[in-house]
Amino acid sequence: MDWTRSETLALAMPQCTQCRGSGLRLARKGVLTPCNCVLRCIFRICYDRFVKCVTQERHVSRISLEPHAGRQRPNTWGRKDEEFIADFSLVSRRTLSEDEYRIFRYHFLLGADWKLCTRKLGIDRGNFFHSVYRIEQKLGRTFRELTPYPLFPLDDDFHGPSRMAPAFSATAHREAVLHPRLPSIGKTA
Ligand SMILES: [Zn+2]
Repeated sequence: MDWTRSETLALAMPQCTQCRGSGLRLARKGVLTPCNCVLRCIFRICYDRFVKCVTQERHVSRISLEPHAGRQRPNTWGRKDEEFIADFSLVSRRTLSEDEYRIFRYHFLLGADWKLCTRKLGIDRGNFFHSVYRIEQKLGRTFRELTPYPLFPLDDDFHGPSRMAPAFSATAHREAVLHPRLPSIGKTA
């Protein structure tokens, strides 16, 4: 896939010394590549959604039957929470090396802080944070470049721009579920 400035600009760290906030940098052979700050941002948005999915009350899944309006993914359906959890976990497992996955599991899936991770995994603080950065960058890129259905952009109203058609917006859909229009009582035919 081609990464464009219009996409990376919104995700880049404004003070990044690598891309100066543009989100793109020149790689070898003069090819434009997404900056690591963009890849880490993508990972964190997806991770945030993952945490919301697994911690929401009683893990109640929302019905997600909205057709997408986006150009890139016409006529697909929104991922349900369970699907997002499964995809996030499986793609991470598949993408990371054994060593990386061990850190990922402790730190991101089980929520262990750096002190516990370094003690459990027998690595020093510097190596731990270096690995965490590498994991975030690797997964951020994979989540975006995944075919046919990337995990990012998120396809509902958790974060970022919604790709739903207005008539099928997730918010409107949720409103309809929470506040169904009851048949009016007292009217005579
Ligand atoms: Zn950058």
